Amino acid sequence: MASSLPKTMKGVWIEKTGGTEVLQYKTDIPVPEPKEGEVLVKNEFIGINYIDTYYRSGVYPLPHTPYILGREGSGTIAALGTNTPSTLPIGARVAYMGQFAYAEYTAVSSTYTVPIPDSIDSKTAAAALLQALTALTLIRDAYPVQKGDWILVTAAAGGVGLWLVQLLKAVGARIIATASTPEKRELARQNGAEVLLEYYDDDKDKFVAEVLEITGGEGVAAVFDSVGKSTFDSSLAVVKRKGTMVSFGNASGPVTGFALGRLSAKNVKLLRPTLFNYIATADELAAYAKELWSIIEKDKLNVRVHDVYPLEDVVRATNDIESRKTTGKLLLQPL
Ligand code: NDP
Repeated sequence: MASSLPKTMKGVWIEKTGGTEVLQYKTDIPVPEPKEGEVLVKNEFIGINYIDTYYRSGVYPLPHTPYILGREGSGTIAALGTNTPSTLPIGARVAYMGQFAYAEYTAVSSTYTVPIPDSIDSKTAAAALLQALTALTLIRDAYPVQKGDWILVTAAAGGVGLWLVQLLKAVGARIIATASTPEKRELARQNGAEVLLEYYDDDKDKFVAEVLEITGGEGVAAVFDSVGKSTFDSSLAVVKRKGTMVSFGNASGPVTGFALGRLSAKNVKLLRPTLFNYIATADELAAYAKELWSIIEKDKLNVRVHDVYPLEDVVRATNDIESRKTTGKLLLQPL
């Protein structure tokens, strides 16, 4: 490893799962050595994703402890492991998806690391990569959205949600969007949603009736539902015959105990996808990333950053996203 690198770094790790009290900001974490096929990135911006809260709280199991949270970042390559591609030299500006991003340095597989074009700044790249690729793969691979399709998007003012509404609008879909506050619904409208609804948590029949009325009694071609437990049933209820139900998140808790026979009522296709299975190879990621950078450059999409927090303020940032106060992307910055 390059001799100019420090031996220790700042970072955030957890030793057990729990509330935000388990997040520990440390200043003496060993700088990782990149292994075969890995690059070491000096992080400039670190993306916060809702999935980080699942690992912290125990919704998803931790691979080991202590565990450094964080699934994406952008910065420059500071060191190389063996057998890395020549497209990723030391000094290259890159964005990546992987593990252990809440730190000054992250060793990450070169397969999930992409160069950032000169025209895109590192903040935009970290704000976009994981959430925008999630939205892009969902509307291409999970359900290939067609012009004129009615689509329901939940949590439409969140990170993935704002990407979904913008990308769906670009395809020519008609978007019904849900979000918890009038301000969030207005933001979703400004970004491309045509019909804005609250969740009607106390009256799901009303929600279903409204969506059916909007869609002429037919229902939507697809739902992209990230809320999970509290919306799954009403989302499934508004999918049209032979439509597609894409459940891709657990913000309100995981969906469990689903009886498969329910699908036969309308021959609905049900998916529970993750981004990583759509970009499992370097070629798949490169193709999607190329398209993403081009969309950002040419279509001038709104890459909304809610806030940039010093890494040290990780508890505040996490409380903000979990208390549903945020819109768009939250970033951390190691200072
Ligand atoms: P968001 O910025 O969308 O934040 C989460 C949002 O979920 C909140 O703003 C809130 O919006 C909504 N929400 C609904 N119910 C709750 C609840 N009980 N507690 C907290 N929030 C709630 O986060 P991300 O953009 O990072 O992620 C969005 C979703 O997409 C998450 O569920 C995430 O797991 C999923 N995801 C899945 C991926 C995959 O590969 N399958 C990849 C990336 C993200 P509101 O107040 O408007 O309801």
